Amino acid sequence: MDNPGETDGTKAASQPPLRGVSKSASQRVKRDGEVSSPRGSVKPVDDCYAFKVDHFRRIGALRRRFARAGLPGLVVTHLPDLRYLSGFTGSSAALALTRRAARLFTDGRYTSQAAEEVQAARVEIVSGSAAGSAVQWLAAQPGVALAGFDPAWTTVAELARWKEALPTRLRRAFLIALPASLVEPLRRVKDEDELALMTAAALTGCKLFEHILSFIRPGLREIEVAAELEHQARLMGAESMSFETIVASGVRSALPHGKATSAVLPRRGFLTLDFGIILGGYCSDMTRTVFLGKPKVEERNVYKAVLEAQEAGVAAVRPGVRCGEVDEAARAVLRREGLAEAFSHSTGHGVGLEIHEPPRVGAGQTTSLTAGTVITIEPGVYLPGRFGVRIEDMVVVTATGGRVLTPAPKALIEL
Ligand code: ZN
Ligand code: ZN
Repeated sequence: MDNPGETDGTKAASQPPLRGVSKSASQRVKRDGEVSSPRGSVKPVDDCYAFKVDHFRRIGALRRRFARAGLPGLVVTHLPDLRYLSGFTGSSAALALTRRAARLFTDGRYTSQAAEEVQAARVEIVSGSAAGSAVQWLAAQPGVALAGFDPAWTTVAELARWKEALPTRLRRAFLIALPASLVEPLRRVKDEDELALMTAAALTGCKLFEHILSFIRPGLREIEVAAELEHQARLMGAESMSFETIVASGVRSALPHGKATSAVLPRRGFLTLDFGIILGGYCSDMTRTVFLGKPKVEERNVYKAVLEAQEAGVAAVRPGVRCGEVDEAARAVLRREGLAEAFSHSTGHGVGLEIHEPPRVGAGQTTSLTAGTVITIEPGVYLPGRFGVRIEDMVVVTATGGRVLTPAPKALIEL
């Protein structure tokens, strides 16, 4: 593997070479092809933003869904849904849709931005609540006797305010809570452009992992490792991290959500890194657990079991399979090894514009996977007060199986 400093262009080429990366690990990277020269394989970020999203098509698909549900109108307030449907990336807006018209309400801070970003809906700048205005506008449209909203993203207080904005005669029955999101099933199936962005985000994650291997050494604080990772991420074009970076060393690796603290990396022990970046609005998510020093037999065995469980989970991914079956494929391996109790969370989750999206890849989940859905496969074993191991890939469901988007080495790396 090349010194990441050489390909980076921003980091001095004085980085030490990677230590202890096993031969099989390097070979695996080469076999996967794309990562052996990460700089060459990661699409320049500018290209990632260049694609033109057809928001008219997305809104059209949503319209067909709410027309089928018998609804003449819909109000959308969840910001990732708004971004998906209209391209608007601001922090406050609401989208009102009828079977014919689409109108995005936002405030004066976003006048220029909304004009630039939004083509598929008419933009209206309002001084009060964007959602309140959207509901009022819908109620004034001819033929719109009721409008759906997503209760999963509406607080009781918000709903009360929307109702107050309506004429008295409409307050009781105009707004209908949808039994399930109408936008989420659209977002769940990523199109080619979305997959290109997510692939670029995931490969940037792999490149960050490769870089951080050359930075890690005993004595550093976890937050220093997180800081270096996040600094490099921004230099590589990340809009931000997709969640708080997890750097959990030594006994802290037994915490499934051990975000970086001032704890010092030990001379000997596991180190779990779980992180992701955002590119063009899309999140990446990956976990690798490495070992500082020489692992004992038990540590090696636990790592091996988690890796086997993770690979079984990845192998189970295909269209039509139930999420619970994918979870079981991974869980069964750990059960066989007597580690079922130590695997205390779901096997994975959907990822896209949000770091956690449906479907949940957990025990008993009956949702079936569809081609174009991106999920994580991330089993872990946590032995409190001792150590923990988690390995996570992003996998896109293809027409025939699953394709790993995060081909960073998974064989145990000793640093
Ligand atoms: Zn993760
Ligand atoms: Zn995850």
